[in-house]
Amino acid sequence: MRGIALLGSTGSIGRSTLKVLKRHREEFRIVTLTAGRNSGLLEAQCAEWSPRFAGLAGVSAAINGIPSGPEVLIEAATHPEVDVVVNAVVGAAGLDATLAALRAGKRVALANKETLVMAGDLVAESALEGGGEVVPVDSEHSAVLQCLAGAESPLSRLILTASGGPFREWDAERVTAATVSEALNHPTWNMGHKITVDSATLANKALEVIEAHFLFGLPYDAVEVVVHPQSIIHGFAEFCDGSVVAQLGFPTMELPILYALTHPRRLPDDGVRRFDPVAAGPLTFEPVRTDVFRAFGLGLAAGRAGGTAPAVFNAANEVAVAAFLEGRLSFGAIADVIDRVLEREGSEPVATLEAVRAADHRARVQAEEVIA
Ligand code: MG
Repeated sequence: MRGIALLGSTGSIGRSTLKVLKRHREEFRIVTLTAGRNSGLLEAQCAEWSPRFAGLAGVSAAINGIPSGPEVLIEAATHPEVDVVVNAVVGAAGLDATLAALRAGKRVALANKETLVMAGDLVAESALEGGGEVVPVDSEHSAVLQCLAGAESPLSRLILTASGGPFREWDAERVTAATVSEALNHPTWNMGHKITVDSATLANKALEVIEAHFLFGLPYDAVEVVVHPQSIIHGFAEFCDGSVVAQLGFPTMELPILYALTHPRRLPDDGVRRFDPVAAGPLTFEPVRTDVFRAFGLGLAAGRAGGTAPAVFNAANEVAVAAFLEGRLSFGAIADVIDRVLEREGSEPVATLEAVRAADHRARVQAEEVIA
């Protein structure tokens, strides 16, 4: 039986993970659980799963005896009975737990793409140092990993699909003025608020290109994005002879979550809707409208600049999205904030942990200034 640490247990990925684990209680057991602030749901999960340790990362004082503070993430991730850490924390807050888990030799089933974006090289170093490994939960990256299973030839190119979000067909002016409820109305995926807004701006897809660059060791020129509104094909892998392999399925996070736990094996599972090509089709593809979804291009440029630039992009985006959700910023201004902060901050060439943390902090302060 493999021991699981579930970080972010009350969010969308966390709840989906528990649904998957419920179907496979003979294979996995929950060792530790952490949530951000939702103490009520965390207590209910503890009653059902009886973890050895549970904590609330997003509050400062203990609630009903549950320990709290950001350090609970590391305690949960490095518990000796844990084999796999499912990191479903939202945003930069997930970085330390990923690094600590890898140094402790754990597999990290990574739904927290921000940690790879901020510090991809450090993640790789920590894995090498402690013998841990990163397996993506992100559906597009899981797709590519599944396409690569058993492949002996190198990948020459990969293509990530993007649903295009709720504003795929809107004109630029209408997108600029989009409301919070319009941005949260995603056509194919039901997810948390932050990633849903990132999907509407396409910042999420830029984060995913950077994530893919680090996960699969490909140069940015070899990572492409295509809009595919049906979200049936999740990723394409092209090999050196031009052959292309794709992974398909109706949109669900339960499959990539299960695969991240079992890779390179598969477990029989009847929890997801079986594929039906007629019901899934027709499948269509379009280029990304980079002129309308400017956050996408800004993210790619930050990835190519390297060093601390991706961390700056990520931090500015997090602050701008939070301000948008609070009604302090228009949808169109999210990209403006990111642009201004990237321009002011530039990039330090070497992304040490200290440099990343400092850049993240400065970018947040700058972003708040730009918004104000
Ligand atoms: Mg994704």
